[in-house]
Amino acid sequence: MPQHDSRKVAVVTGGSRGIGRAVVERFLTDGYDVAYCYRSRPDDADAIERLAAEHGGRVFGAAADVTDADAVRGFLDGAQERLGEIDALVTSAGIVRDGSLVTMDQEAWSSVIDTNLTGTFNVCRAAVFALMKQGRGSIVTVSSVAGVRGSATQANYAASKAGIIGFTKSLSKEVARFGVRANVVAPGLIATDMTEAMTAKARESVLAKIPLRRIGTAQEVADTVAFLASERAAYITGQVIRIDGGISN
Ligand code: NAP
Repeated sequence: MPQHDSRKVAVVTGGSRGIGRAVVERFLTDGYDVAYCYRSRPDDADAIERLAAEHGGRVFGAAADVTDADAVRGFLDGAQERLGEIDALVTSAGIVRDGSLVTMDQEAWSSVIDTNLTGTFNVCRAAVFALMKQGRGSIVTVSSVAGVRGSATQANYAASKAGIIGFTKSLSKEVARFGVRANVVAPGLIATDMTEAMTAKARESVLAKIPLRRIGTAQEVADTVAFLASERAAYITGQVIRIDGGISN
């Protein structure tokens, strides 16, 4: 494994698009070396490579399905071999399969729980011992306001995101004495491919309930993630930070 030099290393799941992509870009801009994974879609890796080169950083992107514990271990091993010890771990990979409970089938339930909740477990489980051993590290998991207060037609998604909060709070208590922090971000409605699929009516209805009267940006979530990962947040652990324009107040 390369020696840890002055550059920090971040690992981001779901880093090819949306919030994860903005987090990758933010870390590169902040001078980190970054490893990111995605499930299958070809990403615009060239743009990420260019950004890394601009900031003198290294980047490692790979397909790794977070529901597959072996694939996750392979990705994390590859990341550490190439870039060194992990300073920041961000679990942004996630999916939705919306529908009212009365029509929700087993597959819609399981795929969302497996990706969002078990995926977060797989990634944190594979990385946590190394972070404890090295005596430093910041984990940021990505929940949602749906996990904080529930959301009609999203019982599967809200359950997975509420699970992430309980998981991360528990983890924060286990690893604090090893110098490792774990926090959650809970975004509201953020402009990404995930929300692009909403109907105009659904979007208008949510917008009307957001006190700040606009949809958030992936960069705004990335700013908070970068803060939580940094030394500026050295005394913050086990917290859920909502980035939601006030909708969950
Ligand atoms: P997105 O634009 O749809 O991007 C999802 C990312 O996750 C992609 O890189 C995707 O890779 C990856 N991914 C999905 N399933 C995966 C798997 N099994 N293994 C590895 N990677 C996987 O989503 P987003 O809007 O940025 O959402 C990111 C996170 O924020 C999610 O956890 C979501 O629940 C949460 N969130 C989003 C919003 C919002 O309004 N957008 C609000 C609250 C919370 P592929 O392209 O290869 O599938």
